[in-house]
Amino acid sequence: MARYIFITGGVVSSLGKGLASAALGALLQARGFSVRLRKLDPYLNVDPGTMSPFEHGEVFVTDDGAETDLDLGHYERFTGVPARLTDSVSSGRIYSNVLERERRGDYLGKTIQVVPHVTNEIKDFLAIGETEVDFMLCEIGGTVGDIEGLPFFEAIRQFSHDRARGQCIFMHLTLLPYLAASGELKTKPTQHSVKELQSIGIAPDILVCRSEQPIPDKEREKIALFCNVRKEHVVAAYDLKSIYEAPLAYHHEGLDQAVLDAFQISPAPRPDLNVWQDVVDRIQNTDGAVNIAIVGKYVQLEDAYKSIKEALIHGGMANRVKVNVEWVDAEIFEREDPAPHLEGFHAILVPGGFGERGTEGKIKAAEFARTRKIPYLGICLGMQMAVIEAARNVAGLKHAGSEEFDHEAGKKRFEPVVYHLKEWVQGNEKVSRNVSDDKGGTMRLGAYDAVLKDGSRVAQIYGTTQIDERHRHRYEVDTKYREKLEDCGLTFSGMSPDGRLPEIVEWSDHPWFIGVQYHPELKSKPFAPHPLFADFLRAAVETSRLV
Ligand code: GLN
Repeated sequence: MARYIFITGGVVSSLGKGLASAALGALLQARGFSVRLRKLDPYLNVDPGTMSPFEHGEVFVTDDGAETDLDLGHYERFTGVPARLTDSVSSGRIYSNVLERERRGDYLGKTIQVVPHVTNEIKDFLAIGETEVDFMLCEIGGTVGDIEGLPFFEAIRQFSHDRARGQCIFMHLTLLPYLAASGELKTKPTQHSVKELQSIGIAPDILVCRSEQPIPDKEREKIALFCNVRKEHVVAAYDLKSIYEAPLAYHHEGLDQAVLDAFQISPAPRPDLNVWQDVVDRIQNTDGAVNIAIVGKYVQLEDAYKSIKEALIHGGMANRVKVNVEWVDAEIFEREDPAPHLEGFHAILVPGGFGERGTEGKIKAAEFARTRKIPYLGICLGMQMAVIEAARNVAGLKHAGSEEFDHEAGKKRFEPVVYHLKEWVQGNEKVSRNVSDDKGGTMRLGAYDAVLKDGSRVAQIYGTTQIDERHRHRYEVDTKYREKLEDCGLTFSGMSPDGRLPEIVEWSDHPWFIGVQYHPELKSKPFAPHPLFADFLRAAVETSRLV
C-alpha cells in the first residue's frame, strides 16, 4: 500500500511546489522507492485543454491522451514515470463527475453536498493505483485559505484520518521574506499559513521554506516551535540557477531524510545520486553556447512552451553547450523581412499552435531556414507550416493552406494541403471526431505509433524505425500531395502504421530540416534528452562553428 505525501503551499503562489514535489519524487527513487506524482487543481475547468496558454501555460499531454497541467511535465522530467489521465484532476472534473452521478440517480435521492459527496469523489481519485507504488505524492494547487481549495484540503485531511497511522504525511511550502531594512528573515507569514492549515485540521510534518538568504538556526528553531514541527523538518529551499539542481539541493538540505523520518523508515536506504550529479555537471560545465530562435505566437508567456524550452536545454546538455533561447513573435514577419530578425541564430524552432494568427510569419520562418540552410525543427503546427511553405514555394501550389484557417474565415480560400481528418485508427481501434463534438474532444490526443523510412535522417537519429510519440492536434497533412512534394525533395519519412497520416517530413538536401506532427518535447528528460532535440542541438553547434 502506498504511503501518501500531500504537498500544499501557503503565503504566496508560485513558490515552486511542483518542482519541490518532482525533486522529492526523484530523491525517493534514488533511494530505491517507486513513486507516482499527482496534481489536484482547484479551478473549475474540467481540464486545461481549453484554457489559453497565455493564461495557464502549456497543456501537457500524457500517453493515454489526457490534457493536463504543466506540472505533470515537471513530474515526468524528474522521475521519468509517464503520467496518466488519473494523475491530474480539477474541481471542475470532480464536480462534473458528482453531477453526472446525481443525474443518473446514483445517490438514491440523497441531498448532494460538498461533504461527503465531493470529498468522497476526491478521496476515490486519490486512492486510484495505491497498491502500485511505494509513495504517492499529491500536490494541491493554489494556496491554503483559497475558497476553491477547501474541498481538497478537507478531503486530504479525511483521507489521512481514514488510513492507518503513519501512512500519510503533510508537507507545506512557505516563504520567508527578507526585510532588507532590518536585515531579517521574517517567519510570521509562515506561522500564519500553518495556523490556517491547522484550523482545517491539518498539521504539517515538514515545512519547506523558500528563502533568498540562509536561514539562521535561531529562525529555524522559532519556526519549529511556533509551527509544531521538528527543527530538522524545517527544510530550506534557496533559489537555484537551474531547476535541475533541485534534487541535489533538496537532498543537501535534508528533505528526503526528513520525509523518511516522518514515516519512521529506518534505516533509510542510501541514495544513489549519480544521475543527478551527471545532470548538474552537464549544466555547469559547458563548452560554448548556441542561439536558438523559437518563432511562435504565445511569446509573452514562456510557460506556454515550457516543455520545448526544457527539451532544448536537455539537447544542450547532450552536447554540453549552453542554450540561449530567444522568443520571436511570428507576426512580425507578416510585415517585415525575417532576415534581420533571424540572422545570427544557429537554429530555428517553430512550435505548435492553434488558429491562423501568426501562421504566415511561421511560413516565412520555414522558408528562411530552408533557403539559408539553417537547422529547422517544426513541431505540429510548425510541421504543417513547413509543408505549406514547400507546397507554395517549391511545388508550385500557390494557394496551399490549411483547412483550419478556412474554417475560421468561413470560406474556402486555400488548397487544403493540411486538412481536417474525421476518422483514423489508434492501435486496432477506429476513432472518429466531428466538428460538433465538445471543443476538448475533437483532437488526436496521446501516444500514436509511427513507422520511419529506412535510411532517412530521422531513422538514423532515433536509431530505430518504430517509434511512438504524443499528439495534440485536429488537422493532418494530406497524403494527396505526397508524391508532388517528395518529387521536390520533401521526404515523408515517418507515417502512421496504416500509411494514412504523415508524421514526419524532412528536406533531404538540407543540413537539418525536420517537421514532426507530434510533440517530441513531452518525452524529453534531463537524464535522457530526446534524440530529436539532442541531434537538433548538435546541428546548431555545427552551424555555430561555421560562422
Ligand atoms: N492547430 C493545428 C492542428 O490542430 C496544430 C496543433 C498543434 O500545433 N498542437 O492540427
